[in-house]
Parts: sequence; C-alpha cells; structure tokens
Amino acid sequence: MNTTQTIVLASGNAGKLREFNDLLAGLGFNVKPQSDYQVPEAIEDGLTFVENAIIKARNACKHSGLPSISDDSGIEVDALKGAPGIYSARYSGVNATDQNNNAALLEALKEIPAHERTARYQCVLVFMQHALDPTPIICQGSWEGTILTQPQGDGGFGYDPIFWVPSHNVASAQLSKVEKSKISHRAKALTELVQKLKTTCHYPTKLTNLT
Ligand code: IMP
Repeated sequence: MNTTQTIVLASGNAGKLREFNDLLAGLGFNVKPQSDYQVPEAIEDGLTFVENAIIKARNACKHSGLPSISDDSGIEVDALKGAPGIYSARYSGVNATDQNNNAALLEALKEIPAHERTARYQCVLVFMQHALDPTPIICQGSWEGTILTQPQGDGGFGYDPIFWVPSHNVASAQLSKVEKSKISHRAKALTELVQKLKTTCHYPTKLTNLT
C-alpha cells in the first residue's frame, strides 16, 4: 500500500519547495508547488503573519483539494514598533527590490543608536488538512539580531546584509547557506512542524481520506 501523502506548498519558491521536501519526505509526504494545481495567488490581507499564512494555506487547499503548507515571514524592528513586519517584502513600495527595502530601513533607523537597533526575523508555518480545517497546525520560529548601519556580505537575500547575528559575529549575508539553515527563524519553525506532524493526528496515514 502506498501511504505517501501529497501536500501542496502555498508558494512558488523553488528553494522552499526543496527545503520542505528534504524535511518531510521521510515522514511520507510529497510536497508539490501550488502552480501544479493552478492555484491563484491569495490576497494576503491579514494583519499578522499567522493570518496571512492561514489565508495562503486555505487558498491552496480550496483550489487543489489537498492538504497544504504555507509560510509567512519577515523582520520586526523594535524601534519601529515591529515594522516592517508583515510588510517586509514591500516595505519601500509594491515592486521594491531588496536593496530598496534595506535602504528604507537604514533611513528609518538613522537616528537610532546601536543598543536600540534590536530586531528579529519571524517565520510562521501553517499546515491545513482541508480548506475548512478548524485546527490548522501553526508553528513559529524567530531569530534575534540587530540592524547594522550599512550592508555587509553578499549571501542570503532580503534583509540579510543589514541583519547582524550576535551569536556568530557576522551579518546574516555572511553566513553560509548551511549555517543559516541551522539557526534561522525558518529552521526553527520547520523543526517544530516536523515534530508536530509526527505526533498529531494529522499524520499521513490518517489524512488519506480527508481531502
Ligand atoms: P516571504 O514570507 O518568504 O515572502 O518573505 C517576506 C519577506 O521577509 C522577504 O521578502 C524578505 O524581505 C524578508 N525575509 C524573510 N525571511 C528572510 C531571511 O531569511 N532573510 C532575509 N530576509 C527575509
């Protein structure tokens, strides 16, 4: 009997797809991109990472008829009361590049002294069995750091060149992919998700007839 359960990833990001498949294949899950099921982009009009992750997961379940996983992430800066937060990807405008967003954040913090530049990356992952699932699995990981005064390093993406990682004494853009994948907000949320999938009734053998 084949107990592999297909799950739809509510994202088109190839890197994320690989990461989820690497971690979840051993649990009997086969993660497919939502583009395989013609899932339209969800309108992310929530006000929290959790709401937006649920909106994306529900949208993927609804249009694919399969269980789904979504993630929503961003950076919170304490001196800005948590901004850019859920608006991290579009902090300096709808079609903002990473450089635009980094420049906007450095500008917003230009008067803020080093000891008040605390920040963290946040990642929320949601697993839903079906579009009306009343108890989605919600996992969260965060990664503490501070915001530099100028970019440093050329790895990573997004805010990595201006995110200082005190535990490693480097900007996150100076960490190797392997190092980052051990300590990041996403790594922590993924570890929690794997743990919860192993120990809850959402495990694949019970899922097969639910969609
Ligand atoms: P998404 O949830 O993957 O779309 O990420 C939202 C935004 O948060 C990204 O566009 C980045 O600006 C920022 N972000 C999330 N995770 C990271 C990270 O690991 N490094 C740098 N920026 C990140």
